Amino acid sequence: MSVLPKSVEQVIEEFSRLPGVGPKSASRMAYHYIRSPNKDATKLASALNEMEENVKYCKHCFNVTDKEVCDICSSPLRKKSKLCVVEEPLDVVAFENSAVYDGLYFVLGGVISPAEGIGEEELRFKDLEKRVNELLGDTKEDEVEIEVIIATNPSLEGEATASYIIDLFKGLLKEGRVKITRLAMGLPTGADLEYADRLTLKRALEGRRGI
Ligand SMILES: [Zn+2]
Repeated sequence: MSVLPKSVEQVIEEFSRLPGVGPKSASRMAYHYIRSPNKDATKLASALNEMEENVKYCKHCFNVTDKEVCDICSSPLRKKSKLCVVEEPLDVVAFENSAVYDGLYFVLGGVISPAEGIGEEELRFKDLEKRVNELLGDTKEDEVEIEVIIATNPSLEGEATASYIIDLFKGLLKEGRVKITRLAMGLPTGADLEYADRLTLKRALEGRRGI
């Protein structure tokens, strides 16, 4: 015999899957919804449903959006000669909130992490290559180059991923068609871009160095 009704157990199990949520917090969240008089559970369920139905990945940058091409990629105000490569959509949010960057983004979907079983195949390196070539195709051969700004986190995995990206564009780098830069390490090792404040991001971006 179980102490809790099955439906409550199921909800606790689902909440426990959330990042940073342990079984105790998951139980507290479940009880919050049981006690709530305002149909909060229904609101949560429909918000999640709506998100699942409407949110997709931008076909150019793989940021989350509800359109085929996101607002950043389709904006005529953004510089197409700069492509900032980040790990996760939340890193884009951090840059955008701090309003320090006027180029385009590319969301890799994570970092190379052998410990977590994430290899090159799991990340969007092929799409990144394709995107850079697309952007190069839009410019005349002897015209502007594309700057690929590597903005992975200053962690071991972030560094490994940065090296992989540099390798990926070795040829284009040699031909002078791309320029590769890495965010300045104003960010402490192990820091998460997602939580960096505006000034730190601004410094990291302004102090970026060429490879
Ligand atoms: Zn986009």
